[in-house]
Amino acid sequence: MNFKVFILANHPLESNRKNYDMTLQKLFFKLLSHKSITPDDAGLLDFVQGYLSDFTAIRIDIDDTKNLFLYKVFSKGEHLCFAGHVDVVPPGVGWDSDPFEPSIKDGFVYARGTQDMKSGVAAFLKACKDAKDFNGTLSVILTSDEEGDAKFGTIEVLKYLKKKDMIPDFSIVAEPTCEGIFGDTIKIGRRGSINGTIEVFGKQGHAAYPQKSINTINLISPLLDKLTAHNFDEGDENFAPSQLVVTDIRSGMEVTNVTPGYLKLMFNVRNSTKTSKEDIEAYINTLFKELDFKLILNQSAKSFVTKRDSKIVKLLQSVVQDITKVNPQLTTGGGTSDARLLAEFGAKTVELGVINDRIHAINERCKLQEVEDLTKIFTKIIEKF
Ligand SMILES: [Zn+2]
Repeated sequence: MNFKVFILANHPLESNRKNYDMTLQKLFFKLLSHKSITPDDAGLLDFVQGYLSDFTAIRIDIDDTKNLFLYKVFSKGEHLCFAGHVDVVPPGVGWDSDPFEPSIKDGFVYARGTQDMKSGVAAFLKACKDAKDFNGTLSVILTSDEEGDAKFGTIEVLKYLKKKDMIPDFSIVAEPTCEGIFGDTIKIGRRGSINGTIEVFGKQGHAAYPQKSINTINLISPLLDKLTAHNFDEGDENFAPSQLVVTDIRSGMEVTNVTPGYLKLMFNVRNSTKTSKEDIEAYINTLFKELDFKLILNQSAKSFVTKRDSKIVKLLQSVVQDITKVNPQLTTGGGTSDARLLAEFGAKTVELGVINDRIHAINERCKLQEVEDLTKIFTKIIEKF
């Protein structure tokens, strides 16, 4: 593993700062025109370092993954971090225009990454660049590996910050969160994700002599209902009840005269903060206690929620209302993002970004107006923090 940390207090591009004064649209298009397919940053992190040249830059590059942490201490106070990724998924085929040559049609910008999530990155970079004053420390975390394994991405920056005692108090991840109209959704948490495999061992035999075998399908049949119809918790204002979803069951040999002696069942649980991996383990161990079985559980993401009455949620909610005239819903739905990592390390984390209806799809697009409004929101957050 190739691990490199650079601290660039005075970036060499400092003298070149004028070249980095650009309009929001120019900045957005610049990000979009770089072919930064995971984990390649295509030079974008160097560019961002130059763009925010009066921030101290720390680069943490591990193998192919590039990470950048930028910070500026304006005054004594709390630390607010904007986080995101510059990498995008491959464009795929069938686009009406070049996915890395942004074009505008009817107010929409078309390019890979317009929604996920170069719009968000452009908005917070511009807001940070324009910040004249701030009540505390302002920072940015960017990675080139969020869409891939994310093994050496944001998590490595957070490990570094933890060592330096610099974990942000609050963070805003600018992933696309809105559904119908811009401003309608702020994410204040995410469900976790736990994958499981249960292997059941029996004794194979002839279908005509069931008494001489231990049929694994017969063994689990009476338990299936208790597995899938069980609520691990009752849910709350932030989460639906945590349930187990069976994704695969296989046993037997696709014949009618041999009874199976082995069965493998796979499942996933999207869990709320009220149900842990240990809770699931205990439930299954009790349910299957009469059987010869093996359970493997893997938590791929932890659940988190930032309190509705916390400073960051209230501030973001009021600023979104103010700029968009929309009353945002506070949700925890969807898949996982790097927000869970920030939360896990102790930053009170929320997510706000543009409308999410074409992420990872062909002809990904986003209204320029949304990026402008998102920038206004972030600028106001910085002012009012
Ligand atoms: Zn994303």
